[in-house]
Amino acid sequence: MRIENQNPIDWRFSERAAQLQSSFIREILKVTQRPEITSFAGGLPSPATFPVEVMRAAFDKVLSEQGKVSLQYGPTDGYPLLREWIANSLSTPDSKILPEQVLMTSGSQQALDLLGKVLIDEGSKVLVETPSYLGALQAFSVYRPNFVSVATDEHGLAPQSLPAIADGARLLYALPNFQNPTGRSLSLARRQELVETCARLGLPLIEDDPYGALNYRGEPAPKLLNMNPDGVIYMGSFSKVLTPGIRLGYVVAPLPLARRLELAKQATDLHTAQLTQMVVYEVVKDGFLSQHIPTIRKLYGDQCQVMLNSIEQYFPEGVQWTRPEGGMFIWVTLPEQIDAMKLLDRALENNIAFVPGAPFYANEPAKNTFRLSFVTVPPEKIRAGIEVLGRLIKEMMAA
Ligand code: PMP
Repeated sequence: MRIENQNPIDWRFSERAAQLQSSFIREILKVTQRPEITSFAGGLPSPATFPVEVMRAAFDKVLSEQGKVSLQYGPTDGYPLLREWIANSLSTPDSKILPEQVLMTSGSQQALDLLGKVLIDEGSKVLVETPSYLGALQAFSVYRPNFVSVATDEHGLAPQSLPAIADGARLLYALPNFQNPTGRSLSLARRQELVETCARLGLPLIEDDPYGALNYRGEPAPKLLNMNPDGVIYMGSFSKVLTPGIRLGYVVAPLPLARRLELAKQATDLHTAQLTQMVVYEVVKDGFLSQHIPTIRKLYGDQCQVMLNSIEQYFPEGVQWTRPEGGMFIWVTLPEQIDAMKLLDRALENNIAFVPGAPFYANEPAKNTFRLSFVTVPPEKIRAGIEVLGRLIKEMMAA
């Protein structure tokens, strides 16, 4: 028998839930599913890089050799062999990372939520870059912090601005490598200054690093974590170097914080899927990533160059853009009077999508900015799409 509601339910959401907003990017992604759209909007990795056969073989192997264990509940902090592998891969001769510091998470996005849960009270001061990763602003917002924007210049976060604003702050959230959304990276000197300044101020520093391995040239830059393992909280992810669909990330924290994060995770989802952790361990343990990552770097690096060349050719004078040496994004700054949201309307009419910059700002947005991703669009479509965008920008500048 089915019971009727005599009175319609008046849903009373918590204040927290009432203020939840959908990420602007996820909204745009709905539009960009249409096949006729050339989308520079998504932060999705290129599916051409997903090692489907390698994953299939690893699932087969784990299920046939360790089926019962892999399908059982597992420990909250994660599959021990994978944690140990991560700790070893992050250790340097001067800074040894312990497996106990590593907490496996369901994507690194979950680490952002857990860090918010454990470190942020309502009104807590939280320092973020200008602009910053939208998904982090969204995750932290649930805990209702007071975001304070840290000054940023063309070289990224400016550590010298911290002492004046850091008093009482719970954390600084930073993306030192190929930042989402700007593609900028911190120089070695800036990294040192940043870590030293945070250590002097007693300010916990979160290093979110999903793109660090995707450098197109030279060697990956040193991690802030290794410069001060007692003061830096490191977040890593398998999304951009393997596949995002398995939802596997991790956070590395000083031990007292790692324990708190583990408790928060226990309350959230008990643990991240044991099967996928065992499969990923099977894939990475013999060095697969060291052959695989160079193929991603090559593909993205080539497409980045095509986009930079096209921008150079088609964007009018007065427009500025970043020249990333890794990662997935280019950041464009239009003349001040031009609103990227209006440009997006025009672009969508012409079947081109990108993400306007405003949602990436915790406070006062620069409305004349936008983010372009070059990783999922083939070169000829990059050229054609940038040509159209250049024309639309010129038209708006002339109006
Ligand atoms: N941090 C940054 C900077 C990101 O760009 C992303 C994904 N776009 C994440 C964290 C979350 O990634 P995941 O949950 O897939 O590990």
